[in-house]
Amino acid sequence: MSRFFSERYKDLSPYTPGEQPFMKKYVKLNTNESPFPPSPLTVGYAAKAAESLNLYCDPDQRLLRRALSEKYGVGEKNVICGNGSDEILDLCVNAYCGKDKPAVFADVTYGFYRVFAQRSGVPYRTVPLDAELHIDPRDYADCGGTVIIANPNAPTGAALYPEQIEGIIRSNPDNVVIVDEAYVDFGAESCVPLTKLYGNLIVTGTFSKSRSLAGGRLGYGIGAEELIADLDALRCSINPYNVNAMTQAAGIGCLKDDGYYAENCKRIVRTRAVMTDGLRRLGFRVADSLGNFVFAAHKTVPGRTVYEKLKENGVLVRYFGTDRISEYNRITVGSDGQTEALIGALERIL
Ligand code: PMP
Repeated sequence: MSRFFSERYKDLSPYTPGEQPFMKKYVKLNTNESPFPPSPLTVGYAAKAAESLNLYCDPDQRLLRRALSEKYGVGEKNVICGNGSDEILDLCVNAYCGKDKPAVFADVTYGFYRVFAQRSGVPYRTVPLDAELHIDPRDYADCGGTVIIANPNAPTGAALYPEQIEGIIRSNPDNVVIVDEAYVDFGAESCVPLTKLYGNLIVTGTFSKSRSLAGGRLGYGIGAEELIADLDALRCSINPYNVNAMTQAAGIGCLKDDGYYAENCKRIVRTRAVMTDGLRRLGFRVADSLGNFVFAAHKTVPGRTVYEKLKENGVLVRYFGTDRISEYNRITVGSDGQTEALIGALERIL
């Protein structure tokens, strides 16, 4: 870092995204992307929008917000869209954390929460998962900070029921609770209906996983009107054109083609069961996952070795190597063919 870099970023350690290989072709199971392309209708919407790229996109994201509000049964003023749900989560941390309001999240969860807090210069507190790597909702009762819960959690794949999250919301009337539902479409139950009952809840979601749009960068937040207005004020103080025209259009295309994406989710759920069985057969401990990934530790082979050997064999998975989870790899549920390649590579390695 240069000597000019602001003092306030001296402790910043940026998020390390999963590898995006450049030249070599891998069976890519490391960043929880969808193995299926966006539907032709989605691509058609984006292509049509490309014809008008000489003009700025809609800073109010009106058609997209309307489509999302119809899909989720909320008002248009209850929705905001972001450049990935990462942007919405970042806005939330900026809006609702401060000197006396730390961000509160699990010790094993999505790594960006810590980075958002660090970059915003707000304190954070981590809450240990229990011995089975589950969130205990009681740990978040009246917790004195802004709660962030990934549900299902990443990288473990375990989910809470909405009733359990409702308990957290009720016991934190003076704190905002953010529920990150990046992986909810693969079997967990959404907390969006609770946003109509509680003024301190924001649910975030993404088009990157179940809707095959990771490269388009589209996420959203749903919550009470006043909360969304806060986030919008921040958004428009940074970049009112945060979701580009092609992505706004692609998002509408995705929502019009819901059946295609729902069918893909079903395929992923079926493949997840096959993959889980296959890994267990090979001696892995695999937690039941409700995400499009599984979290697996081998009984005898170290996590890092599994990662390295798989990479040598052309399969990329995600190894974090951090406290408590150094024996685990997070493996995306891909297509049936990718899963066969994974299991085949592991059979050779083991
Ligand atoms: N939340 C969780 C738990 C994630 O794993 C991810 C994807 N890395 C995101 C949010 C962000 O996804 P995106 O910015 O692509 O919407």
